[in-house]
Amino acid sequence: MLDQAVTVLRGIGPRKAVVLKEDAGIETVEDLLYYIPRRYIDRSYFKAIKDCFVNENVTVAGTIRRVGVSGRGRKFLEVEIDDGSDSLCGVFFGAISFFQKIFVAGDTVVFSGKVGFYRHKQIVHPDFDFVFDEQGREAVNTGRIIPLYRSTEKLKSVGFDSRGFRRTIMAALDSHGEGIREPLDQAILNRLRLPVLREALHEVHFPESVESAERARKRIAFNELLFHQACLAFIRRREKLHAAKGAAPVDETVYRDFVSTLPFSLTADQVNAIDEIKRDMESPAPMNRLLQGDVGSGKTVVSMAAVLFARSRGRQAAIMAPTEILANQHFMNFKTLLGDRLRIALITGALAAAEKRRIAAGLSDGSIDLAIGTHALIQGGVAFMNLGLIVIDEQHRFGVSQRAALRDKGEATDLLVMTATPIPRSLSLTLYGNLDVTSIRTIPSGRPPIRTMSFPDSRLPGVYRSMEKYIAMGRQVYYVLPMIEDSERMDLKSATHVFDHLRNDIFPGRRVELLHGRMKQDERDAIMGRFREGEIDILVCTTVIEVGIDVPNATVIVIEHAERFGLAQLHQLRGRVGRGAHESFCVLVSADDMSDESAERINTIVRTSDGFEIAEEDLRQRGAGELIGQRQHGHGGFFEFADLGTDMDLIMTARDIADEMASRAPDENPGEKETLPPGLRQNFNGIRTKKMLSLLS
Ligand code: ADP
Ligand code: MG
Repeated sequence: MLDQAVTVLRGIGPRKAVVLKEDAGIETVEDLLYYIPRRYIDRSYFKAIKDCFVNENVTVAGTIRRVGVSGRGRKFLEVEIDDGSDSLCGVFFGAISFFQKIFVAGDTVVFSGKVGFYRHKQIVHPDFDFVFDEQGREAVNTGRIIPLYRSTEKLKSVGFDSRGFRRTIMAALDSHGEGIREPLDQAILNRLRLPVLREALHEVHFPESVESAERARKRIAFNELLFHQACLAFIRRREKLHAAKGAAPVDETVYRDFVSTLPFSLTADQVNAIDEIKRDMESPAPMNRLLQGDVGSGKTVVSMAAVLFARSRGRQAAIMAPTEILANQHFMNFKTLLGDRLRIALITGALAAAEKRRIAAGLSDGSIDLAIGTHALIQGGVAFMNLGLIVIDEQHRFGVSQRAALRDKGEATDLLVMTATPIPRSLSLTLYGNLDVTSIRTIPSGRPPIRTMSFPDSRLPGVYRSMEKYIAMGRQVYYVLPMIEDSERMDLKSATHVFDHLRNDIFPGRRVELLHGRMKQDERDAIMGRFREGEIDILVCTTVIEVGIDVPNATVIVIEHAERFGLAQLHQLRGRVGRGAHESFCVLVSADDMSDESAERINTIVRTSDGFEIAEEDLRQRGAGELIGQRQHGHGGFFEFADLGTDMDLIMTARDIADEMASRAPDENPGEKETLPPGLRQNFNGIRTKKMLSLLS
């Protein structure tokens, strides 16, 4: 009944249904009920227009007095609102007739944005929303808490502003609320002190208070977490059932010999990691280990040890990396250090068909010991004779099911996943529910630390001078921007734009090149190759270089619009330098007027280079997206409803319950590929599982 199309609701015809689907992902009544407010505002939050000052960011609510077109040359629409204290205009350029339909005199609208002044107070292109009923602000249904829904101009043009969502959801709860099924036992709900689902779905849209809205969100989030943990529990269970590899010692001879040829000695953390891996590989159950360590902490050597252990037991190994560049780099490293001990092949999408067939033959008859590649490894046609070890690099780039797909190519395979983005425990339980964790915290000694500095835009000339100085000394520079091309919507410099500027105006005598994700693979590889060979002085790029690239002579990384990047990303980017013997620099250039949150992120990066500390900070800062009791969720995060920063207790409980569910489940039939028992999915219907299932598929 909840899975009926939204068109069963009064007032929603096919045209609105299309917009709801396209702009909000809403197709069924259930989707609508789970479209929870993006945040709540308190009535007291609105600023009186008379108290608004120029350049201030404000949210105001007022009655529309006048809607008129102005402007001699370029026309614009003025929407004048009045809140009893004063009036202000929302100004819209372009799409005038579109906005004319939305703004109707007499209606009460909410504007947010930066106050300007041109004849009178105004906000150019304010964020707008309708939250009050037509009768005006005092006639609003509930109390002082007003839910705001994520909406788009298109949605608003068919009536789905916050007011429209609220009305429609109210109607949907009235007509379909009976159909909300409770998947949890009352005992569990009591233990967690959470309301039943039906109540939660009402409360989250029509809250009594900020606190009750939060409890309702937690209830819905718990479903999401439990469903996710159940998926993980059943995957774990399947892996166990299918995999008893038998205990056998590994032979360390080749490994010892290899270590003695290394030009450095292993750090204590590396030795410890290798010990743990060896123990896992010797035990009867397959290894499931996450190796986390900052960029440059030396994870590759550890994975080489694992490959040699597998080889000593006559088993093949596979290493999967997220990009061709990285796969190539691993291939070269492994070739150099282990080429005379192992037969190694590279498998990427770029491979010619004949070559791919030849390698596939080598893997299936056992004449190749190690395959290094991208997800081309998990595509059809690649079969191993006796795959015993899988290493996944930068594993956050892969989904659970990609991991499982590679695992299915062998029997009782050991799994080692590596990440340079260390994660707090709440995240590791979530993302990698079933992994044991080993951390490499120390960076090999002898390498000078990276010096990180932050400058405002206006100091760019000085930055250019420093770049010139290091280039003159023979060093190379990464120059990173958030976007490939200029965009009209955002006031951001793009890689293409800056590339032209640097090459033509600032560094005409230097070799400047551009690298970004929209270039063809072979073009990218060629440029990366030339950069590695020292044939390029400045590589202007986007975050394509984020992952694992290793060019020791590149000692300066400049990141423009640093305020646009997340903490983990900045940390990753910084890890591109400091890989050789020379002192390295990370220069963060940001807009003069960045937000407090951006400034906090940048301070964190300047202050510490410990990835573990940065990870905790990241979670704390992102979890702290709160303004006076208004929380934002679902901002492209991992979960739609849950918040990894605040819902740790729920994650732990969800994990326990999921384990119970999995252990009680009847034995699955051995050939079965389905990771979830039928019935489980239906139970968690509302968790629009879309995102969740996409993680698993
Ligand atoms: P990551 O953990 O980022 O994958 P790598 O394995 O690529 O790091 O190692 C970075 C660099 O450090 C490589 O050039 C590697 O040869 C070197 N390295 C690894 N272990 C040590 C060590 N114990 N002492 C000195 N250098 C090391
Ligand atoms: Mg690496």
